[in-house]
Amino acid sequence: MTQPLLRNFTCPKCQCSRDFYVDVLATVHVSETAPCLAADYFADGDFTCVCLSCDYEGKVFEFTKAGEVQS
Ligand SMILES: [Zn+2]
Repeated sequence: MTQPLLRNFTCPKCQCSRDFYVDVLATVHVSETAPCLAADYFADGDFTCVCLSCDYEGKVFEFTKAGEVQS
C-alpha cells in the first residue's frame, strides 16, 4: 500500500529540491516514556507535501514526478 518516497523530491513550481514538509505514515511506540518511532515511515503518493521555498502545496506524487522528469 505504501512505499518509501522520501527522496528525490523536486517542487513542480519552483524546482527546489530541498526543504519540504511531507505528511507521512509512521508507527510510533507509545510507552511510559516519550513516544518514539518504532519503524520506518512512509509517504503515499497522495499524501500532502508543501514546498518551504515557495509555499506550494500539492501531493507527494507531484513532487516525485517532477524529480523524475528532471533527472
Ligand atoms: Zn517550491
